[in-house]
Amino acid sequence: MNNSKLIFVTGGVMSSLGKGLAAASLGAILQARGFSVCIRKFDPYLNIDPGTLSPYQHGEVFVTNDGAESDLDLGHYERYTGRDACSSDYLTTGRVYSDILSRERKGEYLGSTVQVIPHITDEIKRFIKKNDEDFDFIITEVGGTVGDIEGLPALEAVRQLRNEQGYHQTMFVHLTYIPNVFITGEQKTKPTQHSVKALLQAGIQPDLLLCRSSQPLHENIKGKLALFCNVHQEDVIAALDVTNIYRVPLNYSIEKFDERVCKHFLLNPLEHKISENWLKKWENLTKSIDNPTKTINIVIFGKYVDLEDSYKSLKEAITHAAGENGVKVNIIWCNAEKSKDIVSDIKEADAIIVPGGFGVRGTENMIKAIQYAREKKVPFLGICLGMQLAVIEILRNVAGIKNAHSTEFSADCAKVISLMSEWIGSCGNIEKRSKTDNIGGTMRLGEYPCKLQEGSFAKQIYGEDLINERHRHRYEFNLSEFGEALEKTGTRISGRSPDETLTEIIEIPDHPWFVGVQFHPEFKSKPLSPHPLFCSLIRKAAKF
Ligand code: GLN
Repeated sequence: MNNSKLIFVTGGVMSSLGKGLAAASLGAILQARGFSVCIRKFDPYLNIDPGTLSPYQHGEVFVTNDGAESDLDLGHYERYTGRDACSSDYLTTGRVYSDILSRERKGEYLGSTVQVIPHITDEIKRFIKKNDEDFDFIITEVGGTVGDIEGLPALEAVRQLRNEQGYHQTMFVHLTYIPNVFITGEQKTKPTQHSVKALLQAGIQPDLLLCRSSQPLHENIKGKLALFCNVHQEDVIAALDVTNIYRVPLNYSIEKFDERVCKHFLLNPLEHKISENWLKKWENLTKSIDNPTKTINIVIFGKYVDLEDSYKSLKEAITHAAGENGVKVNIIWCNAEKSKDIVSDIKEADAIIVPGGFGVRGTENMIKAIQYAREKKVPFLGICLGMQLAVIEILRNVAGIKNAHSTEFSADCAKVISLMSEWIGSCGNIEKRSKTDNIGGTMRLGEYPCKLQEGSFAKQIYGEDLINERHRHRYEFNLSEFGEALEKTGTRISGRSPDETLTEIIEIPDHPWFVGVQFHPEFKSKPLSPHPLFCSLIRKAAKF
C-alpha cells in the first residue's frame, strides 16, 4: 500500500472559524467516496495537553478511548468520521519540547546542538506521518492562526513535508474569512490576501482556499481571491455559515470541495463516487434536526455554562438524540455558581442535567437542583460530578448523613466521594491516586468496562450486559463504606466495574428517570448513532 496522502488545514484572519469542523467534514466526504481517513491535530501552545486548562480558555477537554486529554476538535473528527481518535492523533508544542528536553538530559543527542529545525520539526513530521501506511488520507489540522509566532515550527514542518513527498501527495487547505462590510454588504478579500501572504512567508503556497462567509461568494470575489492568492478559481470554495453544523459535509460536496481534492491528488472523482447511502443518511439526519415535531427544555445546571464550547460534546449528544426523536431541545444554560433562585431557574425544565466539573464552586446549588429533580420527579441525568453530587444529595437528604460530601471539597466530612487511596480496605488492582500527586495526568482517564445489573433500568436502556464508557475524574463513590446506606434509600447501583469495586451508574427505580453516571456518555455519541442514555432521557422529557 502507498503512503497516505497528506492534507494540511491551516487557518487565517482570525480564530474560531471552525478549522476542526472543516477538517472533520472534509474527512467525512472523503470517507463517503470510499477512502480511509485519519484526522489529527497539532496545537502550537506550550501546555503538554489541555488537561489542566480551564474550559473557559479552550473549551471542553475531549477524552479518547485510550485516555488522552485532547482538544475538542477531536470530538468533531470522531462525530463526523465515526473513527475513534487515539492519543497519537493529538500533539502540542509543549509535549514535543518536554519529550525532546528529557531526551537531551539523558544525552541522547550525542553532543549535537538541539534546535527547532530539525529536532522540533522532525518530531512534528513523525507525528503527522505516524502509521501512514494505514490510511488513504491523513488530514492534519494545524491549530492557531497563521502569523502566530508559536505556530511557525508546525508550518515549517508541513512545508518540509511538501518538499519531501511532492505536490500530488500533499495539499494545503487554508481556511479564511470573507467579511461582509458596511450597509452594502460588500465582500472583502484583503484579510485573506494578508493571511495568504503570512503563509507565503513561511514558504507555503495554499492549494485551496476555504472561505467562511455569511453570504454566498460572488464569482468576481472568487476571481479576485484566485488572482491575488495564486490559486485556481475552482479552488476557491465557499463555506457558508450554517445553523445546523451537520449540513457542512453536504454543503462542501455541493461546492465541489471533495472533487477538487481528488483532482489535486490525481484521483478521478468519477471512479470514487460519493456513496448514495451516505448521502441519504446525512440528508435524513439534517432534515430530522431541522424539522422537529416538538420542543422541550433541558436545563444544564453547571459551572462553565457561559461558554457553550465547555460542554461541546454534551450539546452535540443532545442534538443527536433530539434529531433521532424528532424533537427540538431548547437548552437553558444555568450558571450554578450565580443562581440566586434555583427553583425559578429550573422550573421550566422538562429534564435537568448536572454535567461534569471540578472544584467546589456552585456545588451546593447543584445539590439543591438535584434535590428538586428527585423530589419533583423531573427527569435527571448526572454526569461524573453530577453523579457524585446526586449520591451526596441522596445520602444527606434521604439517608440522613448530613455531612456527606466529597473530599475534593471538604476534608472534614463523611467521605462519601473520595480518592481510592483514602478508602479503608482494598482498592483492587486499579491505580491509586493521592492528593499529593501532580494535577496533570493523574485521573481515571479513557475507556473502562462497566457491568450492568440484571433487571435494571440501565440494562434496559443499553440492552447489553457489559458496556464501555469514557472517564475523566479523580474521585470515586466509596462503595465499600457507603454502598449499603445508599441502597437502603431505594437507590440502585446498576453499573459497576467488573471487579465490583467501583460504582459506574446509579438510578432511582421509584422515579420517572433519575440516572447518575460516573463516566461521560457524551463523548461516545455520534450523529448517526446517538447515545442510548440521551435518547432515553429525551423521550422521557418529551413524554413519548
Ligand atoms: N471533580 C470530580 C472528580 O475529579 C468530577 C470530575 C468530572 O466531572 N469530570 O472526580
